[in-house]
Amino acid sequence: MGRVAIVTGGTRGIGKAICEHLSEDGFTVVANYAGNSEAAQRFTDETGIKAYRFDVGDHEAVIEGCKQIESEIGPIDAVVNNAGITRDGTLLRMTYEDWQDVMRINLGGCFNLAKATFEGMKERGWGRIINIGSINGQAGQYGQVNYAAAKSGIHGFTKALAQEGARYKITVNAIAPGYIDTDMVAAVPEPVLEKIVAKIPVGRLGQASEIARGVSFLCSEEAGFVTGSTMSINGGQHMY
Ligand code: NDP
Repeated sequence: MGRVAIVTGGTRGIGKAICEHLSEDGFTVVANYAGNSEAAQRFTDETGIKAYRFDVGDHEAVIEGCKQIESEIGPIDAVVNNAGITRDGTLLRMTYEDWQDVMRINLGGCFNLAKATFEGMKERGWGRIINIGSINGQAGQYGQVNYAAAKSGIHGFTKALAQEGARYKITVNAIAPGYIDTDMVAAVPEPVLEKIVAKIPVGRLGQASEIARGVSFLCSEEAGFVTGSTMSINGGQHMY
């Protein structure tokens, strides 16, 4: 059995591609999801990868979920914090609940998964933590103060935890995707999306597999000298 990797929000979109790539790399992969059991079943039928349902924003549920995975599958060596949601709106329209949900799931989820797995990685002297940030955490985005703050927080979280993990051979890195062709982007109204694509230097949306390849590299043995970094995979958009 290969090293065990968990991909949160692994049953759809970018997470699904990450699961498939890590499996090909030899990891024993498990996915996590929030509540769309139909999509999770389809995912498991298609890939043979087991999916565990728990809310990454619920601290106790994450601790219990990871314990269950470790007893059923084995010690978790790699964590990909990919689960994320949007609750967009300008500040004047955004509710406190919209703010809290996004902070709790997108940023709190990274803390919860790290808390559940870091000690085991430290004891075994090896670990990989990859946090999925966003171009909008680097550059900000109109109507996304919650999402941009949470994603920007992920980049700070990554650099701080990387310093704690380095001596135990635990690397902690982030990927900042640009606009990727998934359900999340399908929710953006067409005229808004056209304007967004016009600003991407390579002139197209990214594919989930293009993010997954970055995760593959960061999870590999060969990436042991890379920590605290953010890989921008966004068609050059971060330069503007
Ligand atoms: P999708 O909306 O396509 O899929 C989201 C996945 O996350 C689903 O598996 C969903 O589970 C899961 N999820 C959502 N909330 C929770 C939760 N509370 N606990 C556990 N799992 C949860 O997302 P994408 O693939 O588009 O995005 C993946 C990541 O990449 C996100 O962090 C996103 O912010 C980031 N990103 C995406 C970009 C894009 O253009 N798509 C651009 C930049 C960053 P379920 O199916 O049960 O709902």
